[in-house]
Amino acid sequence: MDTISVADARKAEAVGKAVRLRGWVRTRRDSKGGFSFVELNDGSCQGNVQVVAPGELPNYEAVVKHLHTGASIAVEGEVKASPAKGQATEVLASKLELVGDADAEAYPLQKKGHSFEFLRTIAHLRPRTNTFGAVARLRHRASKTIHDFFDERGFFYVHTPVITASDCEGAGALFRVSTIDPDSPPKAEGKVDYTKDFFGRPAYLTVSGQLQVEGFACALGKVYTFGPTFRAENSNTPRHLAEFWMIEPEMAFYDLSDNMDLAEAFLKRIIADSLDKCGEDLKFFAERVDKEIIGRLEGVRDKPFLRVSYTEAVDILAKSGKTWEFPVAWGNDLQSEHERFLTEQHFKSPVILYDYPRTLKPFYMRVNDDGRTVRAMDVLVPGVGEIIGGSQREERLDVLEGRMREQGLDPHAYDWYLDLRRYGTVPHSGFGLGLERTVLFLSGMANIRDVIPFPRTPGNAEF
Ligand code: ATP
Ligand code: MN
Repeated sequence: MDTISVADARKAEAVGKAVRLRGWVRTRRDSKGGFSFVELNDGSCQGNVQVVAPGELPNYEAVVKHLHTGASIAVEGEVKASPAKGQATEVLASKLELVGDADAEAYPLQKKGHSFEFLRTIAHLRPRTNTFGAVARLRHRASKTIHDFFDERGFFYVHTPVITASDCEGAGALFRVSTIDPDSPPKAEGKVDYTKDFFGRPAYLTVSGQLQVEGFACALGKVYTFGPTFRAENSNTPRHLAEFWMIEPEMAFYDLSDNMDLAEAFLKRIIADSLDKCGEDLKFFAERVDKEIIGRLEGVRDKPFLRVSYTEAVDILAKSGKTWEFPVAWGNDLQSEHERFLTEQHFKSPVILYDYPRTLKPFYMRVNDDGRTVRAMDVLVPGVGEIIGGSQREERLDVLEGRMREQGLDPHAYDWYLDLRRYGTVPHSGFGLGLERTVLFLSGMANIRDVIPFPRTPGNAEF
């Protein structure tokens, strides 16, 4: 007898097989005919399998008739074609064991729908709900596709450090990593003496693996990093987390247009795989979360991304006749409201904005000949706004040092990074895709806290 998943037990091919199944009870219904229906879910797929537990089971009265939502059970039986609508199969149990009971009164997940806010307070149990099961499977699928996509194209996966002494963005809000006793820190000249700290210098959690991954791109050609990223921004928005996962490819000899081509192919592939392989979960999102989700995904998969310069975009926004919370002017950063207007209302298409003002972007982005703009690109998609940020990197040593000084950074602190320009410098490019923004986009979920297993946001790090 094979132990199989609920996903496999639901397939018509399983009919006639003797199987063992294990999972959690979603509901139990007792029939007047002296048997019970148990809806069993094991997380392998969105759907449940219906277990028919006959009254002849020796523990029918003592156990089966007291099975509660949330209890774990093991079932042996035969897969049968189901006479009921909406399911190909059901399992006629010859044995049903209670593995772990769940107190019916106390179990926090009752049959009725719960708000996502409430579910965040039980983050350890929410994976058992339909929505969070679907999110978890979609997130897995996207992660798998990401590795496949790069592997197929000859990229190498590089593990960049989580602890860093360089503040990559120059502007990123950092979490400090320290073993200093906050109650009695070592001091020098009245200030905390970080030379006495664990690393002998101030250290932080990474805000991006880019600087480090550039070193590998300038040796192995095409590489990417995929790991946790930390930003201590106090931005309580539905699109920001303090801890999120970022995918950062970096390619030697790629210019900005090659970079855009890659970003577009990459997003399209993630969408295509989700549509192909997560159909049941996407159908669930379409029914319960966002009616337009499937059409929107197909649109982004099938349409070419428009490429629009920052300057043109500002012009469009200024002439739109809209009133903005954040004023539009050349030199101002674009906010979510602007990004979403461009992609959702004006162009009704994914858009890649490029050539941003140099004052808005970090030192490592390549300065254009106009001197005012840099070779930055942001990919905007409907429903989310910015999903990717990237650029062609500044490969000229003198320009790069100048940009560091301009942004108040000491080039000596980045000596190791500047070495990449001193010895065999090459044009190169890369970008960062936020995994949670991707899952938001794929699912139609509204809040980024609901697409990561254990969200960390200002004031929240429970579980
Ligand atoms: P935003 O303007 O939306 O705050 P950013 O410009 O600071 O983002 P980048 O530094 O360009 O972000 O990071 C690359 C990508 O990482 C973004 O396009 C986004 O998908 C993701 N990202 C950035 N910050 C966060 C965050 N705090 N939480 C979740 N994802 C993020
Ligand atoms: Mn960005």
